[in-house]
Amino acid sequence: MEFRTAIGYDKHPLKKGIPFVLGGVRIPHGKGLSGHSDGDVLLHALVDALLGGAALGDIGGFFPDTDARWKGANSQIFLKKACTLLEKKKISITFVDIIVLAEKPKLSPVFESIRANLALLLHLPSTRISLKAKTGEKMGDIGKERAVAVFAAVTLKIEGKRK
Ligand code: MG
Repeated sequence: MEFRTAIGYDKHPLKKGIPFVLGGVRIPHGKGLSGHSDGDVLLHALVDALLGGAALGDIGGFFPDTDARWKGANSQIFLKKACTLLEKKKISITFVDIIVLAEKPKLSPVFESIRANLALLLHLPSTRISLKAKTGEKMGDIGKERAVAVFAAVTLKIEGKRK
């Protein structure tokens, strides 16, 4: 039995007047995360961690931001694709640990909703999904509410022969 750990990271700018979507959950806020897709920085970091654990490159290799198909796309599509790719390689997810770096909005009230949604998408019990948040202590682009960043770490189990 082989275990692997892998990490993912992403950062998106905050813009006024667009929806704030994090982990597939829409959160009421005056600003949202801009990007080619729905800007879901959490799902993008998680997808990169999963693809990294399978040594499959990164999200841009599968869903380039130059491709009009992914304009405004629901990032849950990207996560589902990453899960399918891992399944094909007989790689299963054991644990997920995520840190969101955001000054605002306050995320603790929505953490359970995000964990529940990730549990559905990943087919994992939410006890295997850890979610934490840090502010930027009013410093830098995170602290000045200009951006949100996310780190995601995953533990993966490889079934059978080494692939
Ligand atoms: Mg991104």
